[in-house]
Amino acid sequence: MRAVITGITGQDGSYLSEFLLARGYEVHGIVRRSSTLQRPRLDEYVNDQTLYGKRLFLHYSDLTDTTSLRRILSRIQPDEFYHLAGQSHVGLSFEIPESTCELTAMGTLRILEILRDIKPAPRFLHASSREIFGTPTISPQNEDTPVNPNSPYGAAKAFANQLVKVYRDSMGLFACNAICYNHESPRRSENFVTRKISIAAAGIKLGIRKELVLGSIDAVRDWGCATEFVDAMWRILQQPEPRDYILATGRTHTVREFMQYAFEHVGLNWVEHVRFDQKFQRPIEPENLRGDAARAHRELGWTPKISLRELAAMMVDHDLERLKRTA
Ligand code: NAP
Ligand code: GDP
Repeated sequence: MRAVITGITGQDGSYLSEFLLARGYEVHGIVRRSSTLQRPRLDEYVNDQTLYGKRLFLHYSDLTDTTSLRRILSRIQPDEFYHLAGQSHVGLSFEIPESTCELTAMGTLRILEILRDIKPAPRFLHASSREIFGTPTISPQNEDTPVNPNSPYGAAKAFANQLVKVYRDSMGLFACNAICYNHESPRRSENFVTRKISIAAAGIKLGIRKELVLGSIDAVRDWGCATEFVDAMWRILQQPEPRDYILATGRTHTVREFMQYAFEHVGLNWVEHVRFDQKFQRPIEPENLRGDAARAHRELGWTPKISLRELAAMMVDHDLERLKRTA
């Protein structure tokens, strides 16, 4: 089996490539040009002579570069296409709405248009988001909950999410949305709140820093673990028919609870170290976000098992080790 992954250098892309390589796949990642060749989440695999250039390949392109995407896809002829790339930060999407929409919304349209011309087209998975629901009046949300985003990121994902349905229903593509609730890991980007907290807890424990500055700690999320989510993404493309699936734990926690788990793990009391700053406050906070993943449980046999406390401990341990090494 041959798979293409956009966003392979990101949190999910790196775990998914690991997952697929372990199952014998040939994996092709799309990477964009940057001023550094550092790809820390992929280093282990790129430095593995038995994999890189043999079963793992990286190709330069960009979600804005239709010509190179088309060329790469017609050369590779993949069986499966996992589209994970995009500007993934909700808060930042209020500051850079134009590029967020260009990459996340139009980028997805460009790929669907290319797939439409490939015969046979690969099975396609789009990493959609619970942000498409904005602040829903129904909780928990399922695949039939009305789309009503309230952030530029959510609006861009909603556009892409709806297009995936259009290309499935009208053009016959095997195209699916994984409507993902938050999922975290030691590879989470450092400007997401869980990673910000795990780095701070580790740094304060080691005496490298003194405080953590946050926005709203009463914000609530349905947080899961990224390794379990990429497993579900793969399962979606193994189904007999294409469908959309909610991927969520169905359990909600506050930022405050996550912080408590992370700090307690290293014997600290968060209250002594955390300060509020208005600049991390969002223009609008979604509420009532809790996913109902009953379809995924039933049809994919997927049940997330890792608790938020375990996830917090895993992330803090990783950052402790990393900070000790760099110190
Ligand atoms: P991430 O760590 O931020 O990774 C994003 C990936 O997109 C990176 O590989 C990035 O490349 C790539 N990318 C960004 N702009 C690009 C461009 N113009 N051309 C090509 N590649 C580009 O995100 P993630 O957490 O793995 O999430 C994966 C997907 O799931 C995203 O679409 C995200 O919006 C969606 N999602 C995630 C969550 C979550 O909780 N993690 C929840 C709902 C939905 P660089 O490394 O070069 O920056
Ligand atoms: P999101 O759900 O994709 O926006 O994930 P984030 O990790 O960025 O944010 C989760 C929640 O944490 C949001 O409700 C934020 O308002 C809240 N939060 C509080 N302080 C911070 C902070 O310093 N950084 C971030 N990123 N979020 C924060």
